[in-house]
Amino acid sequence: MRALPASLLAACGLIATACGGTDSGGAAAGQAARAAVTTPASASALASAPTQAKSQAHAKPQAVAGPLEGKTIVIDPGHNGGNYRNPTAINRKVNVLTKWKPCDTTGTETASHYTEAAFSWDVSNRMVKILTARGAKVKLTRTDNNSVGPCITQRAAIGNKAKADAAISVHGDGAPAADHGFHIIMPKKINGPVDPVVADSSRLGVAVRDAFKKGTGLPYSTYIGSKALDYRNDLGGLNLSTVPKIFIECGNMRNAGDAAKFKDPAFRQRIAVALADGLQHYLKA
Ligand SMILES: [Zn+2]
Repeated sequence: MRALPASLLAACGLIATACGGTDSGGAAAGQAARAAVTTPASASALASAPTQAKSQAHAKPQAVAGPLEGKTIVIDPGHNGGNYRNPTAINRKVNVLTKWKPCDTTGTETASHYTEAAFSWDVSNRMVKILTARGAKVKLTRTDNNSVGPCITQRAAIGNKAKADAAISVHGDGAPAADHGFHIIMPKKINGPVDPVVADSSRLGVAVRDAFKKGTGLPYSTYIGSKALDYRNDLGGLNLSTVPKIFIECGNMRNAGDAAKFKDPAFRQRIAVALADGLQHYLKA
């Protein structure tokens, strides 16, 4: 955990509700976040991002015999922990078919500065271990939590290239502090590449919703969706996916109750197991 510059913290606060975008919330904060997006960056800005500190989880474990043998799963651990260092690269606009959006955001953090990036990185690496032990071939969309990017467009492309049987993007939301609970975001048809996998993504979303509720005991979101299910057409990670894909907002990092759970490694393991169970139920159905 590192202290973020005050100006950036303000930006994070603004972008917080825009974790996956801003359209479902419609909050003033979202408007401000969009307004804050400014300077286009050179494409090389991301290419020059450091890629040190390869994590242990990045060493690809060998798939073993298990219930998920033959299945490929791509896990996107959300916003990179180094994104705050290069706002020019992160704010560069990319085409997500229904609109132009920033390459990425910094994500949010708890009141005590446990970042969404650290949370999703930890949960995702736990999922890699669990799913690999069950026989799946698992790929992450980034190799560490200290770099910048990749953009949302690239994160979709990684799942497509891997021909993933299922893909999931792991997030924690940044809604007003009184809001809590988890929700799943699934794609809508956009007359685009995601259309053929919208129905499967919806099945994946319901399977993960049910497993997450059962495994973690966390309640459905009090502020988005119906029974924790939300459908959107403004997210690059979904619009550009040609494989079944969902986002999960595991809870609201700005809510004290959700945050306390997220900061507990044992609870993060429960989250990872629940997400793995949901993926497995979908893939074995
Ligand atoms: Zn996020």
